[in-house]
Amino acid sequence: MTQQRDVVVVGGGQAGLAAGYHLRRRGLDFVILDADAMPGGSWQHMWDSLHLFSPAEHSSLPGRLMPAQAGETYPGAGHVVNYLADYEKRYDLPVQHGTRVKAVHHDTDRLLVEADSGTWRARAVISATGNWSRPFLPAVPGHSTFTGRHLHTVNYRSPADFAGQRVVVVGGGNSGAQIGADLALDGRVEVTWVTRRPPRFLLDDIDGRALFGVATARRRALDAGRIDTGGVASLGDIVAVPSVRTARDAGLLTAKPMFTRLTVTGVRWADGSQSNADAIVWCTGFRPALSHLAPLNLRGSRGRIPTDGTRALGEPRLHLLGYGDWTGPASATLIGVGRTARDAARAITQQLS
Ligand code: FAD
Repeated sequence: MTQQRDVVVVGGGQAGLAAGYHLRRRGLDFVILDADAMPGGSWQHMWDSLHLFSPAEHSSLPGRLMPAQAGETYPGAGHVVNYLADYEKRYDLPVQHGTRVKAVHHDTDRLLVEADSGTWRARAVISATGNWSRPFLPAVPGHSTFTGRHLHTVNYRSPADFAGQRVVVVGGGNSGAQIGADLALDGRVEVTWVTRRPPRFLLDDIDGRALFGVATARRRALDAGRIDTGGVASLGDIVAVPSVRTARDAGLLTAKPMFTRLTVTGVRWADGSQSNADAIVWCTGFRPALSHLAPLNLRGSRGRIPTDGTRALGEPRLHLLGYGDWTGPASATLIGVGRTARDAARAITQQLS
């Protein structure tokens, strides 16, 4: 049976919940369809030792401050999962977990949302499916010849899985640095960290609070037609969270330039020498998870859909939330997504009236 809603939100991670909060405030009739069986979005799949790069009070969704985690300045991923589960319940958000959206189609005056458990006709759709389910692996010569384990950030859980092994961690962003530090500090793993360019650490006293401030200042500057300051990217790539700082200061987190190819047993360096490895952990980022929107034929470059704010340029009834700065400054962060969600809910309300 086909159900009707004003708005269908696809994805029930932090972005989908923030959308739900603002849709509810505007009195719209909506449902949130989420592929995961449990609340928490991608946070429930992240590695055991992961901590936020901002304190709890600077990592909150609209309406409800994240409580502090006892004994931790920077809350762990499990704490975020609990917060999101509580948020969902507190605002009685209509999330249908375990419901994967397969496709969104045009359907005369509506959009048709086809999920594995039913079909919804909607006057507007917010896509908030994040990036976690689309890990990106670069093409590297010899990839398929390597007989050890290939993992991506999404498959990494803890150093215990690599005790006694030689692991090459690839990637100069936060995931690479944090997983490299996690493995190096454990003491049982021989870690080699490789990056395409020398790693750029942010100053030690810069955490997510300062980053959000910089992102906000950039947005104001752009809105006012002033010069683009370059925002957060101009400061560096890696937040020196405590584990990264400890490993770096102990000399355990020193990056090597990228290897030239993979061999059967490991990697070959630019000078022709080789190192053996049992596993390669690719911390090489993500692409937006947008395959359910393929029937709408909206694809732009880099796997994105061109938008004006959150609204898709080619389909005004479709909004994209989260994913990255391209859907709104800091839209892929806990503290930043609230504002973009508010803007999307406002635009949809205007459209429906
Ligand atoms: P997700 O959390 O990925 O949620 C998407 C939801 O959509 C999931 O529940 C999924 O099941 C569902 N879904 C996907 N496809 C479908 C489909 N076809 N049908 C139905 N449902 C679907 N941000 C911060 O603010 N602070 C930090 O410290 C921080 N650290 C980070 C560390 C790492 C390693 C990473 C990767 C990110 C970090 N971020 C941080 C960034 C950001 O907060 C996360 O990426 C965040 O999880 C994005 O939320 P989201 O709701 O957009 O997507």
